[in-house]
Amino acid sequence: MKKGIYIFISVFLIYWVATLFVPGIIEKRSNPVNSPAPYKVSKEAIDLFNSLDFVADLHCDALLWGRNLTKRSNVGHVDFPRMQEGNVALQVFTIVSKSPKGQNMDLNPADAQDNITLLNIAQGRPLSNWFSLFNRTLYQSKQLERFSDNFNEQFIFIKSKADLERLIEARKENKKVIGGLLGIEGAHALEGKLENLEKAYEAGVRLIGPSHFFDNEMGGSAHGESGDGLSEFGKQVIRRMNEMNMVIDLAHASPKMFDEVLEISEKPVMVSHTGIRAILNSPRNLSDEQIRKIAENGGIIGIAFFDMVVGKDEIKGIVASIKRVKNLVGVEHVALGSDYDGSVAVPFDITGLPLIVEALLNDGFTEDEIRAIMGENVKRFLLEIL
Ligand SMILES: [Zn+2]
Repeated sequence: MKKGIYIFISVFLIYWVATLFVPGIIEKRSNPVNSPAPYKVSKEAIDLFNSLDFVADLHCDALLWGRNLTKRSNVGHVDFPRMQEGNVALQVFTIVSKSPKGQNMDLNPADAQDNITLLNIAQGRPLSNWFSLFNRTLYQSKQLERFSDNFNEQFIFIKSKADLERLIEARKENKKVIGGLLGIEGAHALEGKLENLEKAYEAGVRLIGPSHFFDNEMGGSAHGESGDGLSEFGKQVIRRMNEMNMVIDLAHASPKMFDEVLEISEKPVMVSHTGIRAILNSPRNLSDEQIRKIAENGGIIGIAFFDMVVGKDEIKGIVASIKRVKNLVGVEHVALGSDYDGSVAVPFDITGLPLIVEALLNDGFTEDEIRAIMGENVKRFLLEIL
């Protein structure tokens, strides 16, 4: 009997010690930066960048890893101090609750083993998280709330149009004031229950991407098996999101889901982090036809920063993708959607955004166009939706 207790305590201690360093190792491996700071940028580009009032990024998964985002880190891509250093006004923080083993761009079964369960166990997150996607969602929401409370009143957790206006006003006096909008990547997090949508809203969630890498209760993923559009539950969620002024995000949606959401949504939608098929042909990326549909709907498209969506020379690919959207439908429909901390390697962390300004200047973009792309389009869009 006594021996049993010793074994139990030893196993528990080993597990506890592992939770202290294993998550850091996993994060470091998952989210590398190809060229670390400091970044060399022309004076013209840095002057223009520093003059921007509102730089915004539409997608990051920084909440997944458990890092304290109020502290400056050299691991991963985003935290609050690095947003301040990088003159970033707004970051969308998205909650990932499940990711299939063997995740790929083409075909993922919905019943594949889930990597996030293992990550939650390795992180030593509460037992309530281990087997509930919705509890993981609430847990990450609470983390953002806590980080927000612990950042010297310099972080605004954006939950309404009034909050966004407060951020815009505050930054006129003090550019250290930053903001975050909370989203869910993949509505499997709602576990098929409409009441969980209400609870998620209460926890601060204001954006939902219906599908992630596999099909779920709302419908089909661009990388799933069914190719399905919206389910009945999916339609209910979209209608309710419209009513509650929530942002609909069509990144990772199956082509059929994409069309059906555009049909029933009464408000503009976004595609938060994507590439463009004309630049890199992948099921992950938008066709020219889809880009036109988003523009007709009054929506915006965030261009992601990693090689699988923009190509090996990422900065060149980002600018080419932005240019494609601009030439097809106008510069007012394009924005940044890095996918920072999304288990991808990126060319620079969030302090390196002046590199994009420099590349846009070199490609002949005007100052007004650059302001729109770097954040003014996001500001206008969110003021309309929230
Ligand atoms: Zn994603």
